[in-house]
Amino acid sequence: MRRWPIVLAATLLSFADARTQTPSRTALDVFFIDVEGGQATLFATPAGESMLVDAGWAGFEGRDAGRIEAAAKQAGVSRLDYLLVTHYHADHVGGVPEIARRLPVRTFVDHGATVEQGERPAALFNAYVDATASGKRLQVKPGDTLPLSGVDVRVVSSGGDLLNRPLPGAGAPNPLCRDFKPLEEDKTENARSVGVVLTYGNFRMIDIGDLTWNKEHDLVCPNNLLGNVDLYLTTHHGLDISGSPAVVHALRPRVAIMNNGAKKGGTRSAWQTVRDSPGLLDFWQLHFAVDAGADHNTAEPLIANLDETTGYGIKVSVQRDGSFTVTNARNGHAKTYRPRS
Ligand SMILES: [Zn+2]
Ligand SMILES: [Zn+2]
Repeated sequence: MRRWPIVLAATLLSFADARTQTPSRTALDVFFIDVEGGQATLFATPAGESMLVDAGWAGFEGRDAGRIEAAAKQAGVSRLDYLLVTHYHADHVGGVPEIARRLPVRTFVDHGATVEQGERPAALFNAYVDATASGKRLQVKPGDTLPLSGVDVRVVSSGGDLLNRPLPGAGAPNPLCRDFKPLEEDKTENARSVGVVLTYGNFRMIDIGDLTWNKEHDLVCPNNLLGNVDLYLTTHHGLDISGSPAVVHALRPRVAIMNNGAKKGGTRSAWQTVRDSPGLLDFWQLHFAVDAGADHNTAEPLIANLDETTGYGIKVSVQRDGSFTVTNARNGHAKTYRPRS
């Protein structure tokens, strides 16, 4: 028997089809938009404010900006209060100029200038700086908060600098640090990623962009400065130069979402680390990771796109009590998680 949920036509959700959706006013809605192995995560708060973290790729006839715009429409978002750019790689910043043409952006948030040399990095960075002329630009450092009403967005990494004091309730020694083996220093933009821990009521989630192995380690070793999270957006699309057990297992996520593409991210070892994380209830994915094989992908109902022909997203709707519902836009498969006990 197929273990698929019974889906009523009326419950089918598609970010591209907002007609049947009414924006929620009691929940924090988070849209993990499929940008084919990049990042674009839209937050719509109960107070009517919004934040987009990264904007996917440029090109492809405005594909990613179109998907973001569709999610914004579904969320009832007509302007972005914050557009946070984690770092200046093409799969994160590339889509910023196009989305800034389509939606007014009040404040662009970033870590400062790019650290990468060459024509291509300069072009990406300069196009971003040009786009910011339509709003304010805010450079953040670890410990800063973005003043969204009712939602705490705390910067934990930026420009290569890291939080040096524990977040409230965090700071316990992390025994997993013993087995950690550092990799060579990462001098790319990934290690400069702006990372945030977001708290809404009793709910906590983490998004640290493409932050890499050694920097992540320093956030949780020797003491875990971040604490535990309910929802973990896999760092760096689930590539194996991020997401060591020392960090993932210390975060103790209850639910993880991987923003991979069909052929980007979702490395077997990184996937397995998340899967083995103590206390993990479910692992959702934006794509079936082709190279990983069936043994290193989650169950099909929890995967938003089974191949490269579709662009479904995953929506998370969070209540103040810490309960949250995850919905796969492809099949309407949804699951509600109780508040952390
Ligand atoms: Zn990336
Ligand atoms: Zn990157």
